[in-house]
Amino acid sequence: MLWIVSIIWGLLIPALFLFTGLSARIRNWAEHLGRKWFFVIGIYFVIFSVITFVIDLPLSYYAGYVREHAYGLSNQTLGKWFGDALKGLLVGLITGALFLWVPYLLLKKSPHRWWLYTGLLAIPFLFLLILIQPIWIDPLFNKSGPMKDKTLEGSILRLAERAGIEGSRVYEVEKSEDTKALYAYVTGFGDTKRIVLWDTTIARLNEPELLSVMAHEMGHYMLGHIWKQILFFSVLIMATLYAIHRTANRLINKYKARFGFDQLSDIASLPLLILLCSLYILIITPIDLAYMRHHEREANRFGLEITMNNHAAATASVKLQTENLGVPRPGTLYKLWRASHPTLEERIDFCNSYRPWEKKEPLVYGEMFREQK
Ligand SMILES: [Zn+2]
Repeated sequence: MLWIVSIIWGLLIPALFLFTGLSARIRNWAEHLGRKWFFVIGIYFVIFSVITFVIDLPLSYYAGYVREHAYGLSNQTLGKWFGDALKGLLVGLITGALFLWVPYLLLKKSPHRWWLYTGLLAIPFLFLLILIQPIWIDPLFNKSGPMKDKTLEGSILRLAERAGIEGSRVYEVEKSEDTKALYAYVTGFGDTKRIVLWDTTIARLNEPELLSVMAHEMGHYMLGHIWKQILFFSVLIMATLYAIHRTANRLINKYKARFGFDQLSDIASLPLLILLCSLYILIITPIDLAYMRHHEREANRFGLEITMNNHAAATASVKLQTENLGVPRPGTLYKLWRASHPTLEERIDFCNSYRPWEKKEPLVYGEMFREQK
């Protein structure tokens, strides 16, 4: 229900900005304050974001704080929740003020091809985001440091070496102040390459389970799933931008009197871009999720092949699902629009039955594994 409400909300609010002429009025303020084109864009974005942040606050408080506590998933104090929300807003404001002028410049200079250039530029931008997130963004929200349990760290690093991930470090994130949910991932590249574990995960899983989770995450890393996701998503974004390009101008022509702008390159069009983007993303979501589930299955295969510990992988899946209160038997709507992972049933069946090594069959990813030194 919350998901449906938030989707409708996410379409309704930008529509209100447009049809009441509020967006055009914000642009007027921004022009008055900023004068120069570049500053007008930045000031509009700041005013727009702060107003939407305030309007969204009740819903985000209910979804992110009230419900999380009602289900016993959250350890957050109200102060920490609100502080994190403000930090999130600030990160968004800085990122937007720094980069939003790019698509608007393209809209101005190339009204017919802007969607193509914006889509192409989104690729390096997303790569940059992935690169700086673990070092600049994540530390704003939670403390992290080297792993406390050195024996366990040694086992994880040995597994990483066998998986072909060398010279990485293991970070333990103090996430238990926020949540009871479990999570682990491998991220970054080059100097920012790191294996990250939430302290909740370390506390709840035994060593074989933890290693099977890590083997799965290392699978994502070694199989290049992050990069493939970015490229795949960029293609979908390009299609979305093209669809926006085709529809936005028609809407502007029809409603320009109410909107208070007659060009898409006018910064007052931001709510229109957001509205159409949310609408089209709804259409591409099932495609992207199906691709993600494919990667999840391959990471499961990678994890089983390297650990050969079917039972630990299965019990770890159960624990993750139970602790995170995942939906055990999702319906069709949930599967199509929400499920980034195969169902628990599918995962356990696969964990129990996938044993090519017992039948002396070749491993799919065996070539990638290295001998232990
Ligand atoms: Zn995964």
